[in-house]
Amino acid sequence: MNDFDLIIGGERHSASRRFPIANPATGDVIGSAPDATLADLDRAVDAARRAFPAWSSRSDEDLAAMTQAVADAIGSHGEELARLLTLEQGKPLNGLGSRWEMGGAKAWADYTATLSLPPKVLQDGEAGRVVMHRRPLGVVGSITPWNFPVMIAVWHVLPALRTGNTVVLKPSPFTPLATLRLVEIVNEILPPGVLNIVTSRDGETNLGAAMAAHPGIRKIVFTGSCATGQRIMQTAAPTMKRLTLEMGGNDAGIVLPDVDAKAIAEGLFWGAFLNNGQTCAAMKRLYVHVSVHDDVCAALAAYAEAVPVGDGLVETNVLGPVQNRMQFDKVKRLVDDAKTRGTVLTGGEPSDGLFFRPTLVAGLRNGDPLVDEEQFGPALPVIVYSDVEDAIRAANDSENGLGGSVWSSDTERAQHVARRMECGSVWINKHGAIQPNAPFGGVKASSFGVEFTEEGLAEYTDIQVVFG
Ligand code: NAD
Repeated sequence: MNDFDLIIGGERHSASRRFPIANPATGDVIGSAPDATLADLDRAVDAARRAFPAWSSRSDEDLAAMTQAVADAIGSHGEELARLLTLEQGKPLNGLGSRWEMGGAKAWADYTATLSLPPKVLQDGEAGRVVMHRRPLGVVGSITPWNFPVMIAVWHVLPALRTGNTVVLKPSPFTPLATLRLVEIVNEILPPGVLNIVTSRDGETNLGAAMAAHPGIRKIVFTGSCATGQRIMQTAAPTMKRLTLEMGGNDAGIVLPDVDAKAIAEGLFWGAFLNNGQTCAAMKRLYVHVSVHDDVCAALAAYAEAVPVGDGLVETNVLGPVQNRMQFDKVKRLVDDAKTRGTVLTGGEPSDGLFFRPTLVAGLRNGDPLVDEEQFGPALPVIVYSDVEDAIRAANDSENGLGGSVWSSDTERAQHVARRMECGSVWINKHGAIQPNAPFGGVKASSFGVEFTEEGLAEYTDIQVVFG
């Protein structure tokens, strides 16, 4: 069994209560996590505060070397963590599953170790010297979701540590195990208190809300739903916390008339169904020109039907179950509704337990719930259009603006359409392909701030300008 403890101040702390974690593929309990109290959170914040002065006064080279050591430890425990991820999250070991997530975690960690925010001389002359410095904030609270538990923890924690902050990390109650183990591993390298972890079942005690309100925490970095992000903003206001909030998306893909339907089918499929659609920047609405609509639908449905879906521990499977009942019910509700409005091209019915085969529904339009709401699961609505201006307008008609994509054999034309999409990232002939050397964040209700690169790193610092 995988029964991990809290790590606070470099030490294991068992909680008086624990909660079970089930494998979404089988329903079997595969481990348990501590149900931490508000007093445990206070202890974790206190440990992080005590570790801050020594950690933040390390040299930039030292912080870079420590970040790289953490990255190496993540790399050397990749297979162990991938197995835990598959057990608790459901994603397959293979394909774009848990080994791939661990590869991403290592790549982002490596890249973060190379980043630096050196002092910047703004002026140096007769009128005097002016230098801008970046100072760490103090204790950073990281709150993560259940879709990419380890990779997103790495996105939060490594930049915070690299810039001299200390951290209290709180994973989702659906997927705490791999993150608990990750923090255990990393604590063999870091000084006590630099990285602490608390977990709870989100019952009477909502640790995330308590972190957002906590006067000892200077910043919250959060990835999750828009509703929770808004709550965090409200709860954090009295303590004037710095915030980075990466929230929901309802990304549109626009297929122009000049595509080769068969050639783009694989890219379209994985753009939408990566991690079973449980991906913030997955394609969640597909607008297809009427002249290629039937060919694109046929090619996409044929690709979807050949994809092996099943228990993620079986190496031949490349998609697993939906991660939890709440999300499964949401996908089912949206698909059931879409069936009454459009045509199911493939899928459409749940199978065993939390399994739901990739589903395509054509004949839908803006205003239909599967188009307007973020499904965050294995169901893609296809909307036909005849004028690209209508497609751009419909794609932009959303409160979200995380990502988007344009599919065409004419790159220049695609770039022109891409620049008119209201979103933080736009891909041409692919979707959702984020990378550590490009900033990532959305517009409108999708994000507050950005992650990755020096732009993201700067969000873990305050500016101090020294005149003279
Ligand atoms: P969620 O908002 O329900 O939960 C996310 C985290 O917030 C969990 O750790 C949860 O315990 C915590 N939380 C719950 N209530 C809280 C509160 N009042 N204050 C503070 N924290 C609280 O999201 P989820 O269901 O885990 O994830 C799915 C959502 O995340 C989707 O909408 C998806 O689009 C989004 N997401 C966004 C990105 C991105 O980078 N933009 C990445 C992954 C997921």
